[in-house]
Amino acid sequence: MNAETQTAIDQTGESTCWCCGLIRSENALVHLGNHPEVAICINCVHFLQRRARDVQATAVRQRMRRAAESIRGQVIARGWHERPVIGPALMWVNRHLPW
Ligand SMILES: [Zn+2]
Repeated sequence: MNAETQTAIDQTGESTCWCCGLIRSENALVHLGNHPEVAICINCVHFLQRRARDVQATAVRQRMRRAAESIRGQVIARGWHERPVIGPALMWVNRHLPW
């Protein structure tokens, strides 16, 4: 998009989403706080929100995995996994943990 096109869009109250590139009316765009020249459409804002949630979930999953590894190490150090009743239960839990 050249400068003339951008000026024409600005005069009509529309602008281009910096994420998807679609032209949207100004009231359907969100501007970044520190860079108000950057406008993102509502659909892309929701997309970015989902991406942020995925990244955050990954961080939580990594923390859970570290906690599980720590507990697993303590169980093995104490030999609880070899006990007759609790051992098979602990090994079953270990196999079915999602992280
Ligand atoms: Zn967009």
